Amino acid sequence: MITAINPSGLWKKRLGDWVLNPYVGCEHGCYHCYCPAMPGVKFNNRGHKQAEWGTYLYPKEGIIEALRQQLRSFTPDKAKRTEWGDGWVLVSFLTDCYTPSEAKFKLTRQCLELLLEAGHKVRIQTRSALVERDFDLLAAHRQQVLLGTSIGHFDDKLARVLEPRASSPTRRLRMIEKAAGRDIPVYIAAAPFLPFHDREVLQSVLDAVLPLRPREVFCEVLNPKGDNLAMMQAALRPAYPDYADRLAGYSAEYWAKFTYKVLHYGLHRTKCFIAWPDTQRLWAKHLTPEQNKLLEQFLPPLPAVA
Ligand code: SF4
Repeated sequence: MITAINPSGLWKKRLGDWVLNPYVGCEHGCYHCYCPAMPGVKFNNRGHKQAEWGTYLYPKEGIIEALRQQLRSFTPDKAKRTEWGDGWVLVSFLTDCYTPSEAKFKLTRQCLELLLEAGHKVRIQTRSALVERDFDLLAAHRQQVLLGTSIGHFDDKLARVLEPRASSPTRRLRMIEKAAGRDIPVYIAAAPFLPFHDREVLQSVLDAVLPLRPREVFCEVLNPKGDNLAMMQAALRPAYPDYADRLAGYSAEYWAKFTYKVLHYGLHRTKCFIAWPDTQRLWAKHLTPEQNKLLEQFLPPLPAVA
């Protein structure tokens, strides 16, 4: 039988100690997505190539029964694992739990019902307004829930090219406004923040979301993994040739410096801003010691040396 909830290193990004993915694959098919380059997808996607991301979706067979079984011994107390994560279960990471077919399969809805009834704290991350279907459930368990969506800009035309089947950023903003209006705790992921956007773009995102009192605003600058840069370039070429060219020059050094510029602005704008620490190895190499020090406050503490 499969294991529904799995331990996760995502507590290093303050996202959760545990993760539950109801599906393999994601119909949103975002070209920047690095999930298809991750082992959890690569070894479970029946041999699909990274370029086929978005064209397949496999609901996890038996996940509801597996979760029911697991929850008999996996209590919220047992879920507490790290100082930072504090037992949160992330739904989900290697798929979007509100991928369009969730409207039919309802695996996410059933998993959430079981997790929340068992008393677990659940962080939900989605690029889809389909989550509004489940606002009744989330509102009924608002003490245990944190709902987040990605908003890196409000250019819906560009988003249609890079995230072809996800809800548009302006629609996602409306969704998160509705959630906040129902007192469902929310967070925003300004991710991926694109290298052809500037500080004003981040400012416009923060201006729109901060009045909703998000618990956190995460920010991660576009993270090159696997073939995602090449896939983005191909998708951008017809309508945005200039952007496609700029991605060609997205070197490690440029990435580190751009990351610092963007995150430095966010950190000074709001206390709930959190810099995702994925770029640490590049920060160390390309930034000054002072710049590294500023960003490293968001890294998890190192284990004590014996
Ligand atoms: S919605 Fe998320 S998981 Fe799905 S393709 Fe886009 S980035 Fe990847």
